[in-house]
Amino acid sequence: MEQLMRDMFLFLSKNKVANKAAKKWGLRFGANRFVAGETIKAAISTVKELNEKGIVATLDHLGEFVFSEEEAIESADYCIRTLEAIAEAGVKSNLSLKMTQLGLDISKELCMKNMRRILDCAKRLNNFVRIDMEDYEHNQITMDIFSELREEYGETVGLVVQAYLYKVEQDIDELNKFKPNLRLVKGAYKESPEVAFPAKEDVDRNFIKIIEKHLLYGNYAAIATHDDNVIEHVKKFVKEHNIPFSQFEFQMLYGIRVQRQLELAKEGYTMRVYVPYGNDWYGYFMRRLAERPANVAFVLKSMFKK
Ligand code: FAD
Repeated sequence: MEQLMRDMFLFLSKNKVANKAAKKWGLRFGANRFVAGETIKAAISTVKELNEKGIVATLDHLGEFVFSEEEAIESADYCIRTLEAIAEAGVKSNLSLKMTQLGLDISKELCMKNMRRILDCAKRLNNFVRIDMEDYEHNQITMDIFSELREEYGETVGLVVQAYLYKVEQDIDELNKFKPNLRLVKGAYKESPEVAFPAKEDVDRNFIKIIEKHLLYGNYAAIATHDDNVIEHVKKFVKEHNIPFSQFEFQMLYGIRVQRQLELAKEGYTMRVYVPYGNDWYGYFMRRLAERPANVAFVLKSMFKK
């Protein structure tokens, strides 16, 4: 039953009609539990609150299914405005973004042009931009874009890799030539068993394997998970291998395991919360429900609340 619900939410996350409609609805169905608000102002105010609790952030101006050049340019403008707002407010946050929101489905050139504008701004403001990883269809081209931009912009840009992909270990080996700052995640999209481990135990095992490998290469790791087994394993592993706290951070999503976020920050770990904002919340929200169908109960409650 749970698997069925997961599949249903992942299927719904790709629904372009619902996605378009949701932009006009405003944050609905309890989406505000996972999305910080629709404006930059609301997002910055959330980051301030997190910073006051010793937690840093990465802001994401939500955007998916971008199929026109204007939308892609507008999305890049939002990213730049977000970087500027972070600098103006003096809050501790970097930026996360997706290649499709910058026009990857239109052309790689458009996406690169938008990325260069954003990275020029990030470099000027001494900030950092992380490229989220999307579904498998966009995986290789995203890796290629990252490689090109890493050559041009150095440590201003980072990438995400997904443990559920069979090829991830090989990717980590290949990317090691850049000594990259990687966010390591289990993976959030519905993928075919031809490219990704279908069983959760295999994904969990591979997740630990790639975290260890990346850390032992001496590279910076953003370990993005809500899974206590993984967090406890990492804590033990870094201690055993004398890996300094400055070589890694934990990351979690806004609104998920808030108490655990505070605990990790208090223990002295860098704790970064991924803070999404904007009116394009639909796909992101559906993927969060897919990860934990138990959240559906609270969604249903919020639907019947005035
Ligand atoms: P799971 O085994 O899924 O969950 C472990 C426990 O965490 C669960 O038992 C539950 O207690 C809790 N939990 C997990 N999800 C939820 C939820 N939605 N609501 C409430 N509790 C929950 N994926 C990508 O494919 N590309 C990306 O670029 C990407 N970026 C990410 C950035 C961050 C900061 C984070 C934290 C995740 C990101 N993900 C990304 C999502 C990731 O791939 C997983 O889908 C997601 O983190 C759930 O996996 P988990 O490691 O938390 O472990």
